[in-house]
Amino acid sequence: DAPQPTYNRVMLKISGEALMGDQGFGLNPPTVERIAQEVKSVHDMGVEICMVIGGGNIFRGLQGSAQGMERTTADYMGMLATVMNALAMQSALESLGVFTRVISAIPMDQVCEPYIRRRAVRHLEKGRVCIFAAGTGNPYFTTDTAATLRANEMACEAIFKGTKVDGVYDKDPVKNADAVRFDNVSYDDVLANRLGVMDASAIALARDNNLPIIVFSLDEPGGFRGILSGKGTYTRVGN
Ligand code: UDP
Repeated sequence: DAPQPTYNRVMLKISGEALMGDQGFGLNPPTVERIAQEVKSVHDMGVEICMVIGGGNIFRGLQGSAQGMERTTADYMGMLATVMNALAMQSALESLGVFTRVISAIPMDQVCEPYIRRRAVRHLEKGRVCIFAAGTGNPYFTTDTAATLRANEMACEAIFKGTKVDGVYDKDPVKNADAVRFDNVSYDDVLANRLGVMDASAIALARDNNLPIIVFSLDEPGGFRGILSGKGTYTRVGN
């Protein structure tokens, strides 16, 4: 069983909420381990893997600022939340024997590595999973934008966006039984129709650099590996 991967280097973007299981907040270790297993199974195919994990399971800047906190401070708290998630994922991956580096956009040397592009590329070449933490390091951005930025810098062939559903639909498939999934959709259609793939700055950055976004279900066991070996359902956002 050694399917040939169709990609050599990819970015996996997951939300912070993907790590919380049914807890409603924070980190659920069995869920983190399950996702780490999915990552390992792709790593085992010889694919070089970058990851960005959101922070919404712990803190979101917009929520904090809606409650009266200064926006930039709240955003820094959100970025710190992503570092915690990255460390949890590193721990889960390394307990499965996958060497991993957490690389932060905000230097915190005692905790993880600072972001140095050439060094990160080298890690990938050596087969280490690179988890990019602290978003872009700037307030007013999201981790979707961070994933797109790092994917471009690392020359990933695509961003794999793991969600609760197996692609992009014309309307919310959880609420509408007649929602239709797209096999392919253009960046411009995603923007014009406000299809909930990623925020507009992330989509524009992907479009301007011709970086495809593969939206797939993270809940489907073996789904990530399946798509990388040419199987399964997903939506490809591209030109
Ligand atoms: N954030 C930020 N700049 C970035 C990335 C993230 O300020 O480049 C902050 C922002 O406040 C955001 C929070 O970090 O709400 C958590 O990230 P995000 O909401 O993207 O996480 P997800 O929804 O993917 O869990």
